[in-house]
Amino acid sequence: MKVDVVVIGSGLSGVMAALRASSYGKKVVVIRKGWGATALSSGAFEISPNPLLPQAFELLKKWVSLRIQGSYEENHLFLSQTGEFKKAAFAMESHFLDFRTIGRKKVLVLGIFSPVIPRPAKDLNIVCDLVPLHASDVNLLPPVLAKRLDHPEEVKKLAQAIKTKFNLQSYAALFLPPILGFEFFSDIRRECETILGLPVYEMLGGSHSVPGLRLQKALESALRKANIPIIQGKVSSFSHEKKKIMSVTVNEEEVLAHHFILATGKFFSGGLYKGVDAFQETVFGLPLFYENKKINETPIRDLVDPSFSKKQPLFQCGVKTNENLVPVNEYGEVVYENLRACGTVLSGVDPYRGGNCFGVQVVTGYRAGEIMT
Ligand SMILES: Cc1cc2nc3c(=O)[nH]c(=O)nc-3n(C[C@H](O)[C@H](O)[C@H](O)COP(=O)(O)OP(=O)(O)OC[C@H]3O[C@@H](n4cnc5c(N)ncnc54)[C@H](O)[C@@H]3O)c2cc1C
Repeated sequence: MKVDVVVIGSGLSGVMAALRASSYGKKVVVIRKGWGATALSSGAFEISPNPLLPQAFELLKKWVSLRIQGSYEENHLFLSQTGEFKKAAFAMESHFLDFRTIGRKKVLVLGIFSPVIPRPAKDLNIVCDLVPLHASDVNLLPPVLAKRLDHPEEVKKLAQAIKTKFNLQSYAALFLPPILGFEFFSDIRRECETILGLPVYEMLGGSHSVPGLRLQKALESALRKANIPIIQGKVSSFSHEKKKIMSVTVNEEEVLAHHFILATGKFFSGGLYKGVDAFQETVFGLPLFYENKKINETPIRDLVDPSFSKKQPLFQCGVKTNENLVPVNEYGEVVYENLRACGTVLSGVDPYRGGNCFGVQVVTGYRAGEIMT
């Protein structure tokens, strides 16, 4: 197979890069071995200001069929499944209640396993309880419940059970865990609102995050809509002539291209790996850095801060690039001239200490895909 651009990784950054390269008329293919951190995310977009963000985000919204709401100017408060309020710029419509509009009314918040206790609940007039699910359902994971609720009969049963247990007239809105379906969640939410007679919102995802899975699926259908094929498989090797990558091999097939984009994430997604002797970037064997120090041979203990609450250097390790996102070595020299890197695989991007995570994926993916030649 021969294409213009190969993108490795189908998380948020890889999909952004693929959509951007395709917008220049390039023939693009995405190779991915599975789902990475994007599928685990809460579904909220944490960003920090960047002049490129609005146009990059508009490209994303053009192809991704989720209703994403928010603003570049101010962060919004979102209630998460753990009871924390999380600040983020954008999220899917179903999470988006402006708490300032509630006034003196109460909001009913229902958990599945235990009542969610939002902090600070007292300021926001929140009442917490449990969703009246059947006892055996409580052991099911949120994605299983969400899949079940894709069926209208199940939605009616749930809504009826809530209506029977609670006097909903005294509430301004209802928050449910994010379990309102996968495929049809906008319709299902509306159906719930009709039966219950009040606005229904979903909390952000926790572990086994349904909103994260919805986002990942929507990214993949965006690729399909843009006619960008996805090859399911692990890039196992590559060939190069001097500083130019010629091809990558996946499922024993060689894929030749003019440009390659690395969007493989960090340790969780398999983009980085700690072997017995050294840290590795798993596709092209690139040098890895913490700040400006090469760390491939650094003992792991030197990259871990014993204080749990502190930033961990380990999670900031990654590929260092020049201003064009082309990976460089410890002398600042380009490693492969037709390779770019984007997203969490970059050094300095810490996926566990957010603040701007999705913003970084969106902007660096967009820039990596700017291939005009
Ligand atoms: C648990 C968790 C929750 C998070 N929640 C949030 C949140 O709520 N908001 C927020 O803004 N950020 C959040 N983040 C951070 C953010 O989700 C991630 O940093 C971001 O989604 C990563 O996107 P990515 O495109 O860089 O990589 P990923 O989404 O991790 O994608 C990497 C891709 O590369 C592929 N890959 C790797 N190696 C190979 C190979 N050899 N061959 C082929 N394919 C390969 C993987 O299969 C995968 O498709 C969270 C992170 C984690 C871990």
